[in-house]
Amino acid sequence: MTVSLGMPALPSTRETLPPRPLGEDGLLDRFGRVATDLRISLTDRCNLRCTYCMPAEGLPTQPANQLLQADEIGRLTRIAVQELGVRQVRFTGGEPLLRKDLVDIIAACAALEPRPEISLTTNAIGLSSRAAALAAAGLDRINVSLDTVHAATFLQVTRRPFLERVLAGIDAASAAGLTPVKINAVLLRGVNDDQAADLLAWSLERGHQLRFIEQMPLDADHAWERDTMITAAEIRGRINERFRLEPDEAPRDGAPAELFKVFSPSGGPSLGLVGIIASVSEAFCADCRRTRLTAEGGVRSCLFSHTETDLLGPLRSGASDAELADLWRSAMWAKPAGHGLDTGDFVQPERTMSAIGG
Ligand code: SF4
Repeated sequence: MTVSLGMPALPSTRETLPPRPLGEDGLLDRFGRVATDLRISLTDRCNLRCTYCMPAEGLPTQPANQLLQADEIGRLTRIAVQELGVRQVRFTGGEPLLRKDLVDIIAACAALEPRPEISLTTNAIGLSSRAAALAAAGLDRINVSLDTVHAATFLQVTRRPFLERVLAGIDAASAAGLTPVKINAVLLRGVNDDQAADLLAWSLERGHQLRFIEQMPLDADHAWERDTMITAAEIRGRINERFRLEPDEAPRDGAPAELFKVFSPSGGPSLGLVGIIASVSEAFCADCRRTRLTAEGGVRSCLFSHTETDLLGPLRSGASDAELADLWRSAMWAKPAGHGLDTGDFVQPERTMSAIGG
């Protein structure tokens, strides 16, 4: 059942879709893209209050019984991997470390044949005591959200004095072999945009791979403005104040981040890689390979979707694997061409980033 998320009717959602080709097992969409990268939000709860995501008082969250349980996540991930061709699974949130059963969820995913690549997007609070167990359970990679290494700025952006806990979590991830640790950073004008080169130097010294992400219109306050957003071009400019960049030759393969080799202005070997995820100003939707599940079991074909296809209801009502797989295929067949931010008729979705995950 497709759920419309309290949105004015957008012509594109009413167009008649061409019939989905029969016999196509994968998550094909009508623009010929095939999703193989599954992002699963495990909770809508978070222990930070980032200004570009949610208000200081936080957001209402769903009761636990309305969220996917570990066995339900296991079943849907198995269907995705064994029936639908998914090869990468990323667990996100809210904050996934708030799930006490996270190790079990990852272990179940790692036991799948074929084994998908498993990653986690987290703010790393509490990771220092769990990194080893997560790696032992089968976690392959980790992305940590960190916008600054300055305590005062961290407090200003997240409204929590937890920088040291995050840094301890990152060190524990490195020690557990979850390397290279990927650092996801959002630059805010007049807040931390003057710290871009600092953050890159800090990451390079530790062998982490930093990726700057353009701020996206997925905040609860709907305060996002394109004119105040720091663009990819500006990010490159900030980096070039202290480093020299060269595009990385490796194929991008639908990955959100455009990678660059980083050099010192005085020359010498590459110091490492940096990525820029320019979702807004240099969109990469034409090669998008992502499919998403919300913590309530809804398929979102795009980060900016205005509709979701509920799988949890049918699952709890006894639907078969084949029926769930077909619902998922149909949801992805209807995937929009892109986020529409560059078309002028963009409308911000109701669901916020804290309830979708990166
Ligand atoms: S905005 Fe949607 S279509 Fe574009 S890259 Fe993101 S998820 Fe894919």
